[in-house]
Amino acid sequence: MVARADRAADLADLDGAVSDCFACPRLVAWREEVARVRRAAFRDQDYWGRPVPGLGPPDARIAILGLAPAAHGGNRTGRIFTGDRSGDVLFAALHRAGLANQPTSVAADDGLTLRDTRIFAAVRCAPPDNKPTPAERDACAPWLHREVELIRPTLRVVVALGAFAWAAWWPVLRQVYGWRPPTPRPVFGHGAHWSGESVPALLGCYHVSQQNTFTGRLTPAMLDDVFTRAKDLAGVD
Ligand code: SF4
Repeated sequence: MVARADRAADLADLDGAVSDCFACPRLVAWREEVARVRRAAFRDQDYWGRPVPGLGPPDARIAILGLAPAAHGGNRTGRIFTGDRSGDVLFAALHRAGLANQPTSVAADDGLTLRDTRIFAAVRCAPPDNKPTPAERDACAPWLHREVELIRPTLRVVVALGAFAWAAWWPVLRQVYGWRPPTPRPVFGHGAHWSGESVPALLGCYHVSQQNTFTGRLTPAMLDDVFTRAKDLAGVD
């Protein structure tokens, strides 16, 4: 896996290579089963059923790091946070922040483009119950590390959506930036902020899951605050 990820010369190469990854037997079986069985509302659609690559320009100054694709969202449409309620909330906020050209993300060919922002997940295949195992997280890490390496020249801020993504950032610091992660690790929280010299700042944000947005734990105003802060830190107008 490390070798395949490391061989990717650019993001297009990486996106193509990760889409063809079969390294985790449990996740391969799950993503394919979901694609075969489908949800009633999407029965007439062909699911992607593969790993979901990142989205956004190669010179992004802001990265948004999620957990993993949703079974009937990214795993259906082939694009991260596309076609589910989490994406509705996230892209509406990115549009308000001027980082997306439209407030919705419904299908891979809907014309959505991002400005100065790249979105990707710590684990690239939809996991059962949204819970990858530690072994699956570690197996997928080389894809994340290579993606960060490729956008490293411009990357200034990483917004970690949830504690899983926050924890996935520390190995990136070591692998990509040669930085020893702080000990003890800074604790995740909404609005948490960690920064170090010559490495991207890390901002914590509650995940845009329905569990958080339906209950009001994460509101549009809270997301707006995070993206305003991310833009400030990244020097994005
Ligand atoms: S989770 Fe990552 S490493 Fe595992 S099969 Fe999917 S893309 Fe490959």
